[in-house]
Amino acid sequence: MTQTVGFDTLQIHAGARPDPATGARQVPIYQTTAYVFRDADHAAALFNLQEVGYIYSRLTNPTVAALGERLAALEGGAGAVCTSSGHAAQIMALYPLMGPGKNIVASTRLYGGTITQFTQVFKRFGWSTTFVDTDDLAAVEAAIDDNTRAIFCETIANPGGYVTDIPALAKIADRHGIPLVVDNTTATPYLANPIAMGATLVVHSTTKYLTGNGTVTGGAIIDSGTFNWSNGKFPSLSDPEPAYHGLKFHETFGALAYTFFGIAIGLRDLGMTMNPQAAHYTLMGIETLSLRMQKHVANAEKIAAWLENHPAVEAVTYPGLDSSPYKDRAARIVPKGAGALFTIALKGGYDACVRFVDSLELFSHVANLGDTRSLVIHSASTTHRQLSAEQQVAAGAAPNVVRLSIGTEEADDLIRDLDQALSASQG
Ligand SMILES: *Cc1c(COP(=O)(O)O)cnc(C)c1O
Repeated sequence: MTQTVGFDTLQIHAGARPDPATGARQVPIYQTTAYVFRDADHAAALFNLQEVGYIYSRLTNPTVAALGERLAALEGGAGAVCTSSGHAAQIMALYPLMGPGKNIVASTRLYGGTITQFTQVFKRFGWSTTFVDTDDLAAVEAAIDDNTRAIFCETIANPGGYVTDIPALAKIADRHGIPLVVDNTTATPYLANPIAMGATLVVHSTTKYLTGNGTVTGGAIIDSGTFNWSNGKFPSLSDPEPAYHGLKFHETFGALAYTFFGIAIGLRDLGMTMNPQAAHYTLMGIETLSLRMQKHVANAEKIAAWLENHPAVEAVTYPGLDSSPYKDRAARIVPKGAGALFTIALKGGYDACVRFVDSLELFSHVANLGDTRSLVIHSASTTHRQLSAEQQVAAGAAPNVVRLSIGTEEADDLIRDLDQALSASQG
């Protein structure tokens, strides 16, 4: 498939060709651990990375490979590595770049679990994170030092309301010879193309909109294939790899160096592998991604505008609203719509939020987003609970704030449900 094929075609066809053994039109679920070698020479060539093929499903599996190919096509990348979850994708994305003493510069506005991972888990690897307000480009620049190996942000930051100026961050990353890594989970490749805006790597929690139906966890890393890994900062990719007889990944594999390293070293040694059943559910979901995102956005626009005029609501953060400080940026970064994830601040603070969440009937109170079903969560008492009060406010998850993930139901039914719960919230 070439880049000239439209998104709606790629989301159905990319990575999926009739099964060579049976002609099966849908991608089969290759539920197998291992693959028979043609002979001992074939096995040796595969193990030496002299020939590309299937060895063992911790590294590669045809169902998972079809999903990787589809995601690479939708994001406009050279290759992709699928992982067991979005959190695994983040570790796997940074693993080839980092080492003890190295750091990343990350936005303060991130999914709560990501902030915890970057703060707590990184320490155990000898990595560290400098968090900065990515609207302050001078602060981003100042936070980068000789040991910085990436800038990390989210396109539409969870819990919503904030759109990142990806081209501005990409310029800074370029100037310092480091990759910009963008978590595109909440925007999806239908609404935003970080690689086209200068990002080197895109990470996803495929658990969310890509699968779209709340069935499986998964993640992915997509590489643009254009970064110069031989600039002296990334020895894992440029220097001889002892575990492959001194193979140099960048020199040998060029645009696919990062992807091959992610599979041949990352998945082989860390084992954060996506299973073929999960890949199947996600492939099924992606077939309707653009259709779902159009309805998600239309519903979110209508509901955000309605909420803004409700007397129990103090603020609505939807970046598609005229009142949003990010309206112009949203038009540039996510021109087809600012997603369907945003927060509302309620009059009556923490207690009103608890009454609101408990009164909703059509909305489900769950720790998830990006489902066809509308979802709600009180971030301060759940996903952002581990953060300090200052971190909660910086991440847009203050105690009087509730996050909505608007589904694809009838907008008027959702508005009726919100209306009765807002009345109940005011006691
Ligand atoms: C959910 C989510 C993650 C983590 O993904 P999991 O699949 O739950 O591990 C990371 N980033 C964002 C923006 C998310 O919404």
